Amino acid sequence: MSGIYIHFPFCKSKCIYCNFYSVINNTYTSDYLKSLLKEIELRHNYLEDTNVKTLYFGGGTPSLLNVVEISKILKKLKEYFSFDSSLEFTFEANPEQLSLDYLSDLKRLGVNRLSIGVQSFDDKILSLLKRKHTAADAEKSLTNALSCGFDNISIDLIYGISERDATMWEKELQKAFSLPITHLSAYSLTVEENTLLYKKIQKHEIAQLDEDHAVNDYKLLLKMSRESGFDNYEISNFARNNMISRHNFAYWKGIPYLGLGPSAHSYNGPSRQWNVSNISKYIESISLGVIPCESEILSLSMRYNEYVMLRLRTSMGVSLDVLKNEFGATLYQHFLDQFSKIQKSHYTFQNNGFVLTEEGKLYADRIAATLFI
Ligand code: SF4
Repeated sequence: MSGIYIHFPFCKSKCIYCNFYSVINNTYTSDYLKSLLKEIELRHNYLEDTNVKTLYFGGGTPSLLNVVEISKILKKLKEYFSFDSSLEFTFEANPEQLSLDYLSDLKRLGVNRLSIGVQSFDDKILSLLKRKHTAADAEKSLTNALSCGFDNISIDLIYGISERDATMWEKELQKAFSLPITHLSAYSLTVEENTLLYKKIQKHEIAQLDEDHAVNDYKLLLKMSRESGFDNYEISNFARNNMISRHNFAYWKGIPYLGLGPSAHSYNGPSRQWNVSNISKYIESISLGVIPCESEILSLSMRYNEYVMLRLRTSMGVSLDVLKNEFGATLYQHFLDQFSKIQKSHYTFQNNGFVLTEEGKLYADRIAATLFI
């Protein structure tokens, strides 16, 4: 079982908080496409198992790709990989691009899961974040998706925004949970140095982020998602009727995946590698038949740290059996010694593993750091 991720690194404009690798200069698009097709050829042996269970187009803004371009990518992938009959094919899209025609094309091409970058249902907040769509566009994209037969729809929301108070956040959550979505990804606004948000905060044009505000938003999110029948299966991810993101869940379970395109990461068990985050370097290197990437062999302690960090974020939790059988007696003992320092209200013990409680989720990073080797 394996997964493939395609990174499409172009956007119409840059959102205020965005730290993903994306450029707004689309003169590179056709060269990017050529390079991507060549990268598929060059790297088709990366995965031992060529039966693909999950395919994910992310970015950037993959919904800027037209139907011919997507078809070319799929055709090339199918030369080297078989798509499992249960393939989960996720496509990230911005609301303003989801017309009925475009959605019908996506459906015809086999997309069966949409991840829509809604971020907020409030026009003032969308404008503050420098998103290109309105709340009405977001709702319209959902209506269009439903009428085209999509029944597995995820939306993204951002919380912890100082300009939005608790009442406004509650209203946004009520709206989100009233919609026929199967999945919600919600992320706290963070400030990265190379973003417009950082510059605006430095210039006092936007208020500093407030950690307590984000914590309160997250608590409300946990409460309202529970009341609405959504399972918080990973700290930032919520699913109705077990419609989890199988692609992302495979990452957290340590299943190999191949990432294609600039800045995409790949993992095959013993090692991890990542492509250069630079479109022109990517195109130039691929044209010479060289994968523009760096890689690292994962030591036992690196794998242990990663296992603990990722699993603590999920409802699977950290399994004592896995720690004992895969990481050996020394790391197993280290985990137990360190775990004895964790406050009891922050975890429960289920199925021979440690799972964070709602209170514990607020301190997940700190707890993981305590457990690292
Ligand atoms: S659309 Fe997504 S990838 Fe593009 S700038 Fe906005 S947040 Fe970043």
